[in-house]
Amino acid sequence: MPKPPLPTIKLSPRGTTRLKSGHVWVYRSDIAQADGVAPGSLVTVIDQRGKPLGAALYSSSSQIAIRMLTREEVTDFPALLRQRIAAAIDYRKNVVRDTNAYRVIFTEADFLPGLIVDRYNDILSLQILTQAMDAEFVRATVISELSEYLHPASIVERVDPRVRELETLAPRASGLLQGEKTSTIFTMNGVRFRYDALEGQKTGAFLDQRENYAAAAQYARGEALDVFCYRGGFALHLAPRCSQVTGVDSSRPALEVAEQNAALNRDLLKGNEIEWIEANAFDLLKDYAASNRRYDTIVLDPPAFAKTKRDLDSALRGYKELNLRALKMLRPEGMLVTCSCSYHVSQADFLEMLGSAAIDARRTLRVIELRGQAKDHPILLDVPETAYLKCAIARVSI
Ligand code: SAH
Repeated sequence: MPKPPLPTIKLSPRGTTRLKSGHVWVYRSDIAQADGVAPGSLVTVIDQRGKPLGAALYSSSSQIAIRMLTREEVTDFPALLRQRIAAAIDYRKNVVRDTNAYRVIFTEADFLPGLIVDRYNDILSLQILTQAMDAEFVRATVISELSEYLHPASIVERVDPRVRELETLAPRASGLLQGEKTSTIFTMNGVRFRYDALEGQKTGAFLDQRENYAAAAQYARGEALDVFCYRGGFALHLAPRCSQVTGVDSSRPALEVAEQNAALNRDLLKGNEIEWIEANAFDLLKDYAASNRRYDTIVLDPPAFAKTKRDLDSALRGYKELNLRALKMLRPEGMLVTCSCSYHVSQADFLEMLGSAAIDARRTLRVIELRGQAKDHPILLDVPETAYLKCAIARVSI
């Protein structure tokens, strides 16, 4: 029996122009007509004259009403889903090295808008961000494909209640979708980490920093300070190269896991103990700078200070304060590893901030590496939001 045609959504001329210029999102204000289209539907998108522009997933409540799937016609959505999941897994096989923890599916960047899947060794963690991806048959297809290709011991779902509210989806608790295992140990660059699937922020670790950990470790030496250390991602990578490492974070639970992670890596640390300090980073850097503490390596990896465009100026002031203090504390030839995961802070803004902090600190910086997120978080040029992480590695010359 032929399938009924997909519901259609008509765009305004502005919406059409956006899509034609490569965007894959259409905002609600650029929709001319979507009468009677059910939440989360697969739809055909048409321009104001009725010409088809492709197939998309529709949200009846989000400001992002349409997320394009393809510029072609879709006849078999489950088959398309399966093919894209397989392609995402295959891409990682080619680009991901030295780890059994990585992002398997990165929403738009893997042409699966609204779906994030992370792998932590034998546990997969799934996040659903849209009405369309929440559909039962979509969930079932995703779970069966992931199981077939990756054979996880279990699959857990991490729920952000705010996202479900924005998408007007019924509340749902985080929990196991398949299997029983909820904790494991994963390895990145030879360093071991604990993972508890149903605790912690994000989905458990900052996988996007994985390649930056290895890069930072190459240059690290002497006394090192890892500011905003969370569960010790940078600190544990630096420790084998440094005489002393201190990790600082305001979260006690994160530091408790950091300590357990250090215990898992005793062999790598060769007797070096990492000191974990619970403190507000701004206060601690101020105190340390005032008491003339000096370091050879400093890592700054703060949370996103600019959550929206409006926060940009205050975010840049925050980044500058941190970088200025760190620069003052670095010994000559010291290394600064400085990061920003705010999408709204561009790489140009970030470097300008860093340059201005160096001038105020009266230090000369040479940038050795300008890095971004790990390769399992590819950047889709049509969705600038997929490029968010900046990591500069610089040497203080004088
Ligand atoms: N570098 C870490 C990730 C850092 S995420 C890694 O690679 O795993 C940001 C961290 O900053 C979180 O752990 C959060 O607890 C911490 N944080 C947020 N505000 C802080 C503050 N004012 N002082 C110290 N830590 C803070």
